[in-house]
Amino acid sequence: MNASASDLRFFNTLTRRKEKFTPLEPGKVRMYTCGPTVYDYAHIGNFRAFLFEDLLKRWLEYRGFTVTHVMNITDIDDKTIKGSQKQNIPLAQYTEHYTQAFFEDIKTLNVKPATHYPKATDHIPQMTSLIQTLLNKGYAYKSQDGSTYYAINKFKNYGKLSKTKPQALKTGARVKQDEYTKEEAQDFALWKAHTPEDGNVFWNTPLGKGRPGWHIECSAMSMHYLGETFDIHCGGIDNIFPHHENEIAQSEAATGKRFVRYWLHNEHLLVEGKKMAKKTGNYYTLRDLLKRGHDPIAIRYLLQSTHYRAQFNFTLEALDAAHMAVERLRNFARRLQDADGAGSEGKIAQLLRAVREAFGDAMDDDLNVSIALGALFDFVREVNTLLDAGMVAKGEAEGVSAFIGGLDGVLGVIGEVEAEKTLPLGAEALIRERGEARKAGDWARADALRLRLRAMGVVVEDTAEGVRWRLVRKA
Ligand SMILES: [Zn+2]
Repeated sequence: MNASASDLRFFNTLTRRKEKFTPLEPGKVRMYTCGPTVYDYAHIGNFRAFLFEDLLKRWLEYRGFTVTHVMNITDIDDKTIKGSQKQNIPLAQYTEHYTQAFFEDIKTLNVKPATHYPKATDHIPQMTSLIQTLLNKGYAYKSQDGSTYYAINKFKNYGKLSKTKPQALKTGARVKQDEYTKEEAQDFALWKAHTPEDGNVFWNTPLGKGRPGWHIECSAMSMHYLGETFDIHCGGIDNIFPHHENEIAQSEAATGKRFVRYWLHNEHLLVEGKKMAKKTGNYYTLRDLLKRGHDPIAIRYLLQSTHYRAQFNFTLEALDAAHMAVERLRNFARRLQDADGAGSEGKIAQLLRAVREAFGDAMDDDLNVSIALGALFDFVREVNTLLDAGMVAKGEAEGVSAFIGGLDGVLGVIGEVEAEKTLPLGAEALIRERGEARKAGDWARADALRLRLRAMGVVVEDTAEGVRWRLVRKA
């Protein structure tokens, strides 16, 4: 597919409009996505954002663009310091644990790696030099305690992304913590002078002994890897203010250039209809769901199957439906391998043309994945009908396989399908044993056996018709 001929449109948060996407450099896309703050295991709300960004990148690549993708690792901020102190371990040791967990999780979810994963603590010089530029240009000032603040009234476009009205800003008031609400818009900390609460977390720099604010981290790292102006910046809608608003203020004041051309933000995730929170008991990390035996690829499918700008309600029922949708695609891919029918008299070619167009049009239209998937499943149903009737010739099936394989480069849910469907050695005995344990009411034993089977790549489910099993990737 020719990138220059693309008809991609994205909803730009900056203009609140869908805009035709044209990258700065033809055929190349430079994109920055706010990465994890490594103070805990990432939850499914985080992964909704990361999977939306993965889908976006994969679609850009499908359309022929070469994507340079930078995702930062926030390993120094208010939350990481607090967490490491609670556990009484050095900050680097604390964040390393959650950084590795993050990389394991995205691998499990089949997320394509970014080009660069810069850590904030490796880029302190870039941050202090950016702050120095802001000081030199009069956009920043030092406060009594030695911290450096951004003077929001000096930047006339402050508020343009979040549509915060400048007159509502309490100028002169200062906020030192990284997170605050729109109503509290005020001068924010670029460099935080060391305090006893920070313990032994500090850097000695020309700005004094201290540490960076969260917002300057992303400005410094994005421009370091992608240049002063780049194409796409993503994040969750809760990042619009203050994080991304402040990134714009810092970067554009320093360079005098436009910072980002397209801002894309994904909506919130709800769980069982409510805001996800530890105290309401509807909080899931990826690891929580895997422990319950759910297939990570079904989780991937579910989290990316709703349009990114729509609120998404995660339920365990929907996750079961996602399991089935993924299985339907995998079974379809398997069936195509065995097809050797009479031929469809052009019907397959016609269906292929139609689905290619419908899927492409929907995805080009601001990544409308739910419409695209609808078109894909219509196609699967119609080809299945032809397969049932023995009307799909080997060559036609190969054409369909190639098309499905191409789409799976975008969806990332089918993978290699094995033609054989036999249980690994010893699994059958374990399934039987588990059934007996259940009959005897020994749930702990039954659960332990289920986990052992899962590790072998076998998922067992108890249905009204009895025990069913299916093969998944090994855990
Ligand atoms: Zn960020």
